[in-house]
Amino acid sequence: MARTEQGAGSREQFIPAQYQPPLPLKQLIIPEGSEGAGDRMELDVLIVGAGPAGLACAIELARLAKVDGTELNIGVLEKAEALGEHSLSGAVVNPRAFRELFPDLKDADFPFRAPVVKEAVYLLTAAGKWRLPTPPSMRNHGNYVASLCEIVRWLGTKTEELGVTVFTGFPAAQLLVRDSAVVGVRTAPAGLDREGKPTPGGAAPNDLVANVTALAEGTRGLLAQAWCEWQRVPSENPQIFALGVKELWETKQSLDRVIHTLGWPLPRDAFGGSFVYPLEPNLVALGLVVGLDYRDAALDVHLLLQRFKQHPLVRALLAGGEMIEWGAKTIPEGGFYSLPERRSGAGVVLLGDAAGFVDVPSLKGIHYAMQSGMYAARAIFQNLKNGSALTEYDGSVNASYVAADLYRTRNMRLAFRDGFYWGGIQAALMTLTGGRFPNGKYRMHADAEVARRSSPGLRPGSAEKVDAVFKSGNSTRDTIPSHLVALKDVPAEVARFYSHMCPAGVYEAAESGLRINAPNCVDCKATDVLGPRWTPREGGSGPKYKRM
Ligand SMILES: Cc1cc2nc3c(=O)[nH]c(=O)nc-3n(C[C@H](O)[C@H](O)[C@H](O)COP(=O)(O)OP(=O)(O)OC[C@H]3O[C@@H](n4cnc5c(N)ncnc54)[C@H](O)[C@@H]3O)c2cc1C
Ligand code: SF4
Repeated sequence: MARTEQGAGSREQFIPAQYQPPLPLKQLIIPEGSEGAGDRMELDVLIVGAGPAGLACAIELARLAKVDGTELNIGVLEKAEALGEHSLSGAVVNPRAFRELFPDLKDADFPFRAPVVKEAVYLLTAAGKWRLPTPPSMRNHGNYVASLCEIVRWLGTKTEELGVTVFTGFPAAQLLVRDSAVVGVRTAPAGLDREGKPTPGGAAPNDLVANVTALAEGTRGLLAQAWCEWQRVPSENPQIFALGVKELWETKQSLDRVIHTLGWPLPRDAFGGSFVYPLEPNLVALGLVVGLDYRDAALDVHLLLQRFKQHPLVRALLAGGEMIEWGAKTIPEGGFYSLPERRSGAGVVLLGDAAGFVDVPSLKGIHYAMQSGMYAARAIFQNLKNGSALTEYDGSVNASYVAADLYRTRNMRLAFRDGFYWGGIQAALMTLTGGRFPNGKYRMHADAEVARRSSPGLRPGSAEKVDAVFKSGNSTRDTIPSHLVALKDVPAEVARFYSHMCPAGVYEAAESGLRINAPNCVDCKATDVLGPRWTPREGGSGPKYKRM
């Protein structure tokens, strides 16, 4: 068992990776035909995850088949009980991929709330603010404010209109394989008791087999991770993540612009910032995003968001208003150098956030996810029709604006590993040189490998988060078995670190050890990055977001 170490300044340090169970590959990757499944279904193409990536893939594929007069049996699996309920984003959306996917529609037909007409970027101190010139990466003229839940529901309707079957409430839990090829997935069982035993009303897992399986599970995709590890697909840097905590407010005051802030309330050795977006003049989405390579073990993104709301800039906007929804989700932040070397293999492709297609300086992933879905659909269609290789998908992405955009900002997020101010100066130079400064690549550690400082601020519990979880709509069955896999004995300070890290108050550092209140989990996946492993649980568990 690893121990905490004395670090610089004689404060105790520990490395989260030393307390993290390994990815259970033997459990996640099983031979086709393994015992234990209930029903078996055969499809041509199976898509795991009904986010923008998975749904854009399904739409493009169904349309290609229709134009060609080919019959294709396409299925989409989604763990949320209804479409969009596990979707959370900012969101300011670049409409580029929508326009390509729906060439006959106008921007006004898309499920956007409003065009961005004004924007402002501020550097905050505890009580003050400086307006900064908007960096090119944060200019949003021509983009639209939207709710990802609404986008997903709209894309879902288009998908079903094309004859694709969307199975909601069905999490994929295991990859079915034959030799080194992926041939489908096995879903998670439902109706287990607390000890994991089947109950009379429960349901066994189902096997869905397909010629091609597209993994579009979003951030920290479990099966995508397992496939990369199993097939030893490297990336130049490990993937790194940020945690975003978001609230939706009905306000008395109206907001006429998109706002981003940097600085307070984040410590200088953490990377991140806030967003405040008007969905309607009196409906505001606001959130705080913080890189999970922060050094202070007591840092708590949920609490920092509560502090952020006390800043005069935000307090005035929220005065008299009401918080109507709350949620949290991670974002893959590593960019170009964290992309898996290939995003295709025998019988499988990786899309969207599951592959890491996010540009952090502009906080954009939705149009990259959709675009990757469309490229994958075209490669899958050709693969099924004439046997061409799925590597054509990699070729399309590599030759596209998706790879070019990520390459342009390749070191920007990474520069902030050296702290806020030095990172900011380097990022400015990168912007001025179009990404050419510095020559080379910043090396990163996985977030769990970054040493954490224990500090006197470490508190034992997180009861105040339970109210927030209520606003996520989470009504997971109380008697569900825990889907979070922790080491048996973790030191008290590591348990406290988990309790700060988890925005939903799932972890508690009790005298008897780490207590896990698993039903509270909102599937943000921060735990899988830094602590106990996340695994899929009974379908329909977790949040029920409406307009996140
Ligand atoms: C706080 C925050 C702010 C953001 N702001 C913006 C923004 O302003 N603009 C922008 O463009 N992007 C933004 N992003 C990024 C953007 O939301 C993502 O890049 C985008 O949603 C990725 O789409 P996706 O389809 O790959 O994944 P997701 O949207 O995450 O969809 C994945 C789907 O797969 C499902 N799933 C996962 N695992 C399984 C499983 N095992 N079985 C079945 N289903 C599964 C999930 O429930 C989910 O519905 C933001 C992200 C966050 C967290
Ligand atoms: S347990 Fe993990 S995945 Fe669930 S809400 Fe907490 S940090 Fe997020």
